[in-house]
Formats: sequence, C-alpha cells, structure tokens
Amino acid sequence: SDPINDVEKDVKEWAKQKKSEIEDLKKQEQFRRDFLSNVSHEFKTPLFAIQGYIEALQDDMDDPVMVKQFLEKASKNVDRLSYLVKDLDEISKLESGEIPINYVKFKINDLIKEVMESLEMKAVQHKIKLSYKDKYDEPILVTADREKIRQVLVNLIDNSFKYGKENGNTSIRLYDLHDQVLVEVTDDGIGIEEKYLPRLFERFFRTDSSRSRQIGGSGLGLAIVKHIIESHQQTINVRSTEGLGSTFGFTLQKARQMPFPVLPVLKS
Ligand code: ADP
Repeated sequence: SDPINDVEKDVKEWAKQKKSEIEDLKKQEQFRRDFLSNVSHEFKTPLFAIQGYIEALQDDMDDPVMVKQFLEKASKNVDRLSYLVKDLDEISKLESGEIPINYVKFKINDLIKEVMESLEMKAVQHKIKLSYKDKYDEPILVTADREKIRQVLVNLIDNSFKYGKENGNTSIRLYDLHDQVLVEVTDDGIGIEEKYLPRLFERFFRTDSSRSRQIGGSGLGLAIVKHIIESHQQTINVRSTEGLGSTFGFTLQKARQMPFPVLPVLKS
C-alpha cells in the first residue's frame, strides 16, 4: 500500500474522531445549560406562587374561607418544591454513580406484593383498586438492585394513581420471558397523547394537560425510573391511549438457576 495514502487516511480518521469528540462536548454543554434553566424555571413557578399567596394574606384578608384556601395553595406549592429537591437529589446521586447498583437475587413477586402493601392506603385515598396478577406457581428470582427496583415500582404505581381516574384500576402483571421477566403497570386513567410519548422519560417533562400541572410532581419520576432500568442494562417502555390509560413495562434479568449439585456417593 502507498504510505502517503496511509498517512492521509490516518489523519482523516483522527480529524473525524476529534470532530465527534468536540460535538459530544458541545452536546454535554448544551445539556447542562438546558438542565440549569429547567431547574431554575421549575423552582420559580412554585416560589412565585407562594410569594403571591403570602402577599395576599398580608393584606389583612378578612374572609376566613379565603385565608384557608390561600394557605392550602401555598402549602401545595411548598410540597412541589420539596418533591423537586428530593428528586433532584436522587437523580444527581444516581447519575454521579455515587450509589452503585447493588445486585442481589430476590423474588420479584415478593417485592411487588411488598410495594403494593406499602401503597395500599394511598390507593384508597385516590379511590383506585390496585391488583396484581401472575400465572406462575413458583416465585421468579431476579438479579437486580432490590431497593432501586422498589423505587421504580413506587414511581410507576404512584403515577398510575396521580393520572388515574376515580374508581379506576391499576394492575400489575408479571411475565416470564425465558432469560428476563417483564413487569407491567397498567392504569385506566387519563392516558398520554401519542406526540408526548417519545419525550415522557426526559427530565422535567410533563404533558400540557391541565391535570398534569395541578397534580403535584417534579417531572423527574420517570427520568429516575429510566435511569435505574438502563443502568441495569434493561429496557423500559410505555404504550398509551389518550383517555383510556397507559401501560409502563420494564424488564429485569432472571437469576441463573444453579442446577442441584451432584453429591459424590460415599461408599461405606
Ligand atoms: P411527575 O409525575 O412528577 O410530573 P414523571 O416523570 O413521573 O413526573 O412523569 C412525567 C409526566 O408523564 C407526568 O407529568 C404526566 O404528564 C405523564 N405521565 C406519567 N405517568 C403517567 C400515567 N400513568 N398516565 C398519564 N400520564 C402519565
């Protein structure tokens, strides 16, 4: 081969690589900028609202019903701020890798039941019937970070309450897929417009529907869920029909079943 040609090829290759590195850096920089502007925007809205209610209350409001209402609204916005701080803290810890994935073997059926029990009261408050179905006789062992998967289940079920409808149903289903399991959380709530589906797992993304804005939340729950599932090298997806409901499904790795050890037969 022609050495000059080779050098030229190498230089071109090098230039291409540098260019893509620079593009990556630019993307990261843009990402950071968007993130910061999102964070400050998300804080501003509830802060301004709280400020407004406090100012109104300072103006010698004499209607006790109004006073109570304003205090409640201010308090809702304080809740919103605390959700934000908690979720931001969570996502930054996850993304920095500060809390590594702690793989353990556990029965996914048990975890689902545990999470359901912990959310029982909340389901009643939201007037939602929570149910769990699987068609397997034996519990299924998975290998994953039990606490993080608990968080995934809590976030998904919690959303099904928030965006569910009164007297609605949330059902959890478990499917055995050979090497993996699929866990699905289905609600018959407000559903999601198709155009929003690709952006649903982005940080701070919330659909425009007024309900979404009235409901407390940080817009980080699904970003946290996605981060956890992808850091397990598993997948998460959503299907939804506006007005009918949504299904969020994620996979987990099944624990490898060790065959029973064959013990040597001792001769007497
Ligand atoms: P949050 O619930 O705090 O707003 P999430 O990241 O959990 O944030 O969800 C992002 C958005 O996705 C929500 O604001 C809502 O618009 C939509 N969403 C999530 N889950 C559901 C669901 N089960 N049904 C309808 N919309 C949903």
